[in-house]
Amino acid sequence: MTLRSSVTAADAAHVWHPYTQHGASDDPIEIVRADGAYLFDASGRAIFDAISSWWVTLHGHAEPTIAAAIADQARTLEQVIFAGFTHEPAALLAEELLRRVPNGLTRMFFSDDGSTAVEVAVKIALQYWQLRGENRRVIVALENAYHGDTFGAMSVSARGLFTDPFAEKLFEVARLPDPVDADVVAAFERLLAARASDVAALIVEPMVLGSGGMRMWSAESMRGLRELCARHGILFIADEVMTGFGRTGPLFACEHAGISPDLMCLSKGITGGFLPMGATLTTEELFAGFRSPDRKRTLFHGHSYTANPIACAAARASLALLDEACDARRRAIETSHRAAATRFESTPGISNVRVLGTILAADLVVKDAGYLSTIGQTLKRVALDAGVLLRPLGDTVYLLPPYCATTADLDRAYDCIAEFAEAL
Ligand SMILES: *Cc1c(COP(=O)(O)O)cnc(C)c1O
Repeated sequence: MTLRSSVTAADAAHVWHPYTQHGASDDPIEIVRADGAYLFDASGRAIFDAISSWWVTLHGHAEPTIAAAIADQARTLEQVIFAGFTHEPAALLAEELLRRVPNGLTRMFFSDDGSTAVEVAVKIALQYWQLRGENRRVIVALENAYHGDTFGAMSVSARGLFTDPFAEKLFEVARLPDPVDADVVAAFERLLAARASDVAALIVEPMVLGSGGMRMWSAESMRGLRELCARHGILFIADEVMTGFGRTGPLFACEHAGISPDLMCLSKGITGGFLPMGATLTTEELFAGFRSPDRKRTLFHGHSYTANPIACAAARASLALLDEACDARRRAIETSHRAAATRFESTPGISNVRVLGTILAADLVVKDAGYLSTIGQTLKRVALDAGVLLRPLGDTVYLLPPYCATTADLDRAYDCIAEFAEAL
């Protein structure tokens, strides 16, 4: 046990951390600054952030143009109520972002994080059908899905360890099998044969089930699900909270399948990873379904910090950085990942290697698989000692680096994983 600083002592006395069992964890590491792909701890050690600090840091930590946009905005207009008022950062962000998403999405509803972006999508879907006078009340979601930690988001997420304490408080959804294991399109067809006119919406994480273990599924299945939704008038919700802003290669994962959703949820990388913000994008048809002289037909949802100007300024600056040079950086990461995947395929102790854009994932070969598998914890510790931040999902190890990561940075992380797996 190392001596606690005033920060770690105050933390130990007063802070309750997310996804942390305080009875079975080491003290958290005190980070004092960050730059590019690196975090620096109180002792000056550099740690390569191979997971973009929980999938949010997009271009790099402390990216100067985003930092400057935030500082400028904070001195100009830091916050204003967003009902009855608007401002340049929000209106222009909506215009600039909607220009770059799949066709057909024309409206942006602002919220605070990924979970609220999902809550809003589900509320819009349910209220839309109610306003139309159609009795569509069923939400369909995938096995192994993760859509956030608030009650609605938990309801559409896979049931299990995270949701068990609240099981009877969650609303029921119709469940499709994990598209990696089963023919999800055929399963959806079977479900629709029985109750198509009851279904309000289908929600999916396009191309990758993230928290469910970086499970990558096919563009073909995505297209199949999209077509079935279109045929039966069901709303297709794409939760791109993790995949958005280039993580899977193209700007949005829906582009792999050439599809446009009716609703899209965004967060995580939206501000470049600087400030919290959620967004739910919708079609004009959905927006028009609520528009009326009748106040009862309002979407009664909003958060205190809706469209916070500073967060909007950060998002605009981040969007401006998603240019051709950034495309090239993402392609370089993918090339690097593919070479590592070839190496991992012949590394003992590693199986099921997969790459999509800037995401590389693989499974460690262990007996006690699952989220509570201790192997991931061990790897995390070993990697930290080597100056690399990994956070395996049970026995699934993955890299999801900021786009400024260099080949040398990535090589360090690959080496860490390979050496660990070989020693298993
Ligand atoms: C992280 C995540 C969420 C929840 O976002 P928060 O900002 O953590 O609330 C929702 N959906 C997906 C796909 C995610 O990866």
